[in-house]
Amino acid sequence: MKIPFVDLKAQFASIERDVRARIDGVLAHGQFIMGPEVAELERALADFAGVAHAVGCASGTDALLLVLMAHDVGPGDLVFTTPFTFMASAEVVSLLGATPVFVDIDPRTFNLDPEALAAAVGAALSDARGRPKAVIAVDLFGLPADYERILAIAEAHDLLVVEDAAQSFGAESHGRPAGSLAHIGTTSFFPAKPLGAYGDAGAVFTDDEEIAARLDSIRVHGKGKEKYDNVRIGLNARIDTIQAAILLAKLAVFPRELEARRRLADRYTRGLEGRVGTPWVPEGQRSAWAQYSVLSDDRDALRGALQAQGIPTAIYYPKPLHLQTAYAGLGHRPGDLPVSEAAAARIFSLPMHAYLTEEQSDEIVRALRETAEPSAT
Ligand SMILES: *Cc1c(COP(=O)(O)O)cnc(C)c1O
Repeated sequence: MKIPFVDLKAQFASIERDVRARIDGVLAHGQFIMGPEVAELERALADFAGVAHAVGCASGTDALLLVLMAHDVGPGDLVFTTPFTFMASAEVVSLLGATPVFVDIDPRTFNLDPEALAAAVGAALSDARGRPKAVIAVDLFGLPADYERILAIAEAHDLLVVEDAAQSFGAESHGRPAGSLAHIGTTSFFPAKPLGAYGDAGAVFTDDEEIAARLDSIRVHGKGKEKYDNVRIGLNARIDTIQAAILLAKLAVFPRELEARRRLADRYTRGLEGRVGTPWVPEGQRSAWAQYSVLSDDRDALRGALQAQGIPTAIYYPKPLHLQTAYAGLGHRPGDLPVSEAAAARIFSLPMHAYLTEEQSDEIVRALRETAEPSAT
């Protein structure tokens, strides 16, 4: 048996007609840059995320960059974020000359720990490198961070809170969609994300009309009334029309796919409880299950046994950002952010996609149970 970690071929087989029809539409009208599918997608995304405006862009990384640029983040600004995430969440801060401040995570959700955030913001008031400006919280593996508490801390210090929903588009917290949970939200449509394009793409979500207009300007070289009137420094960060067209076809089946991911996660948890540390979903939240990640002290042995049976696994993330070579300049040492470091040492992710069959997931559970000692969490 060979199980793909993410099965884009099975998905394509089930939506091929719609995808081809959508792409044909773009080939026929020829408006490859900012064609009509972009506005159509933005309307659909805004409705899905429950916000007034969605602004499409070239990637999830550009979405974060656009947000920080629209809020004039730059040298002298401190931006608080988690080290247990993909590089992009912090990279954009450094790219603009601001300083990322890494804050440890909650051991059960793997998301920014609000108590650690409050302590870090307090300590930063006397930080010579700058003044607190923003928080980038990440909804890791598809589970929303604790925005109720993060927003309360941020509001006391007048900080912008950005929701990096690159992994959580489709998730919910107390009935509200991911992307709408902070002051502004971003997502990624990288092919392997819960809603993936066939190339790079992303979006920003906001209720603020003025910010939406600024984002629209920055993604096209800081355009003013028209393209050759430049009112600010911007980027080339548009979403391709063909990717927007593909996403429109995929959005139609996305709710069904989310349900399939949730059923798979429940089946994994029922089968694996007591053998590995299974994901915890707080009351009132629904994950988009970008990843189904488990914890074990026996990670290498378990991954090896699965690999031998044709079952792929992955480690997100093997090295927290504060210990990356790129961030050596921040002067961190192992032990500085112990919860993130412990998670990085024990975590691994199982195959997760909407087209995994019950037989396949039972096979994965069986293979893991065969190797994992009872209660070795
Ligand atoms: C994937 C990802 C990004 C970046 O998205 P791209 O579209 O690859 O640029 C940012 N943040 C997180 C948490 C991600 O998982």
